[in-house]
Amino acid sequence: MPVNYRKYGALGGLLLAAACQRATYPTAANTPAAPPVVPGVARELAEFRKQTLSRVAYDLRLTVPASKADPVRAEETISFRLRDNRHPVQLDFKGQARQLHGLLINGQPAAIDYRQEHLVLPASALRLGDNAVKISLDAGDLSLNRNADYLYTLLVPDRARTVVPVFDQPNLKATFALALTVPPGWKTVANSRWAGTDSSQTVQYVPSDSISTYLFSFAAGKFRRVTQQVQGRPMNLLHRETDSAKIRLSMPAIFRLHGEALAFLENYTGISYPFQKFDFTAIPDFQYGGMEHVGNIDYKAASLFLDEGATKDQLLARQNLIGHETAHMWFGDLVTMQWFNDVWMKEVFANFMADKMNPEASAGPAQLLKFVTDHYPAAYAVDRTAGANPIRQPLDNLQDAGSLYGNIIYHKAPIMMRQLELLMGEKPFRAGIQEYLKRYAHGNATWPDLIAILDAHTPADLAAWNQVWVNQPGRPVFDYELQPAASQLVIRQRAEDNSDRIWPQQFDVTLVYPSGPVTLPVNVSQREVAVPLAPGKGTPSYVLLNSQGLGYGVFPVAPPAADHLASLTDPVARASTYIALYENMLGGRGLAPRQLLDRYLLQTTHETNDLNIKLLTGQLSAIFWQFLKPAERDALAPTLEKALWQAMLAQPKPGEQKLYFKAYQSVALSLEAQKRLHGIWRSQRAPALVKLTEDDYTALALALAVRDYPAPRPVLPQQLARITNVDRRQRLEFLIPALSPEVAERDQFFASLKDEKNREKEAWVQAALGYLHHPLRQATSEKYLPASLDLLQEIQQTGDIFFPAGWLQATLGTYQSATAARTVREFLAAHPTYNPQLRNKLLQAADDLFRAEKLTH
Ligand SMILES: [Zn+2]
Repeated sequence: MPVNYRKYGALGGLLLAAACQRATYPTAANTPAAPPVVPGVARELAEFRKQTLSRVAYDLRLTVPASKADPVRAEETISFRLRDNRHPVQLDFKGQARQLHGLLINGQPAAIDYRQEHLVLPASALRLGDNAVKISLDAGDLSLNRNADYLYTLLVPDRARTVVPVFDQPNLKATFALALTVPPGWKTVANSRWAGTDSSQTVQYVPSDSISTYLFSFAAGKFRRVTQQVQGRPMNLLHRETDSAKIRLSMPAIFRLHGEALAFLENYTGISYPFQKFDFTAIPDFQYGGMEHVGNIDYKAASLFLDEGATKDQLLARQNLIGHETAHMWFGDLVTMQWFNDVWMKEVFANFMADKMNPEASAGPAQLLKFVTDHYPAAYAVDRTAGANPIRQPLDNLQDAGSLYGNIIYHKAPIMMRQLELLMGEKPFRAGIQEYLKRYAHGNATWPDLIAILDAHTPADLAAWNQVWVNQPGRPVFDYELQPAASQLVIRQRAEDNSDRIWPQQFDVTLVYPSGPVTLPVNVSQREVAVPLAPGKGTPSYVLLNSQGLGYGVFPVAPPAADHLASLTDPVARASTYIALYENMLGGRGLAPRQLLDRYLLQTTHETNDLNIKLLTGQLSAIFWQFLKPAERDALAPTLEKALWQAMLAQPKPGEQKLYFKAYQSVALSLEAQKRLHGIWRSQRAPALVKLTEDDYTALALALAVRDYPAPRPVLPQQLARITNVDRRQRLEFLIPALSPEVAERDQFFASLKDEKNREKEAWVQAALGYLHHPLRQATSEKYLPASLDLLQEIQQTGDIFFPAGWLQATLGTYQSATAARTVREFLAAHPTYNPQLRNKLLQAADDLFRAEKLTH
């Protein structure tokens, strides 16, 4: 039965009162020194404020003008209780002094002291106990995402302070009372319930639940609002989609999936949905898949609205995304990290829950295959690099929080959590999670707080386990030895970095006998473990280590499995084998790139599982473009194209056909293949059973353009004329110069990215960079690399959290040349004191380049 959290309110109130009483009489001994005024949100400042401030509330009145060139005017009142008024109070505000127009502290006008990204309130104007500060200003535009007829906030991790002055740290939760005055015809949404609208176009919201500043959110603009009752709960969706087929096909699923996710989470956690209301907004080209604002989740519109051309993979990804964001209402929004060093906790639980709530049964083979193909390749993509970071990282200043995000948080952490659940058992693990949510509801907690609770539910040594899995990066390399005389299989692990660490974990081993396979679970808790062979069955023909994919590390692949991939009938065993083959290839341990490509080519005619087709063709395309020399590519292209086209035709279903078609489009190099693609694009007639949408035809036109296909009339302007949706038209308009056949025009496009204004649509910029640095364009694009690296720090300061990694990946992701590798090395050598997190991001993005340099030369 779900528990309603409010009944614990009385107890929480008593504890708070006790704490306040103690702190009302500060002494010099127990009050820390006031921290210095420095840019960003320093940990020292955050801790000082946590000790001296409480009961924070914001009242915010914003006036959004019709023209996006005019400033958004703000009237803000901040109330808070102070336990020590002998020091100035620092409000975080990253803007310009000229934006601040007036300041009243406790009713008295005060001089504006603005420095180092802080509005500093003098101690002399502050009282012990309750204070109210009134500020009138022009709100900052940086994170308001202002477009001609809509805007939306995206304030994670420390961007609330770019809009108005706030205490921008996750453990000073506050209520927000918002009033928005907007141009006529605009619709609005915020964290809390609508309270009313007056004649002057002002929409008033009731005070929000108590939330962290990074979760404060609103959107306003020309949106359509759709309201549905789902299991007795009203839900609103704001969107700008115009494609009637997409709307018709997607709307029921969007609402249903949210309802299912809420029901699952209430049941798993034992806690009823803990906030006032539950709405969501679909934003065109939203920076991420979604963002879990309390009561108002934002989504990338294209992730929600799918049409009849959607693949099973896209449908699953949407379901997973909705599950992820909904799970955050408990994991992150209800219980929040104390500080952003633990941001990974909310992400791992969101992913973990999203995986669990998949209705195809959480323990079923489809869910397992999805877990394996989603998380392992992505985790290894970072953990195998010299820039690998641990799951838990230190963070001294919130201005660097964005660089903590990445594959390790999103993909290694769920693997770790699943291994933790295996170690503890499902029931004790869930009991621990429930206890953690109850204890810290509407508050904040750290990972050590959670580990302490879990530790009490298991006899296992979680401290040691935590040290290797969470506090350090890296992975083990496995090996095995069949010992028929002793009737056992010996499995050994060593750390890839040659340290003496071991990763305690559980996975399956399949022993393949002539009479059939036998699968055994093994608990690899030591450096070396011996597994007894089945009595009376003789010696296995070969061994498949990690046949169910849940083991973490590099696993050897027995030659019979690599040579006869089609003989592996279990889709999960195949996925695990593809992943292991690719990891070994990159490490120079197993097959060379060309040998592996040949195995995969043969396998395309046999692989029929959609998730595996995606994995296999993704690896195949990566090997083709990055690990073959250009001359090898040209020679191989006709064979590869033919194999993929045949594989497409051999599939009985449209979704699987489309995956092979996309792979064909990705590798198409011969003129014949390009002619075929051009014919499909021109006639808008997809081959066989494949269904192609407008977005697919746009991608096809872009693929032709980057190949300089000699079409009678240039394809991109024609494609532009076909698109009716204004947001999608603008995207293509932005991309066109990046794909120009003229080098000078591409140079100009790249130069334009040095201006922050031209990088505002980060999703567009990353797509443009992908084309600009396409392997076929690298001879003339390599020269952009030094300037691209020089821009990185500025990009971190001006862009959203995923942008530095996205920028680097889209720029460096497919290079293989020695010159490109040298550019990166020289940059690193020339910047010995570079921001360590950014340095890691660079080493991560350049890892394939360094490996390609070795493997292809
Ligand atoms: Zn998330």
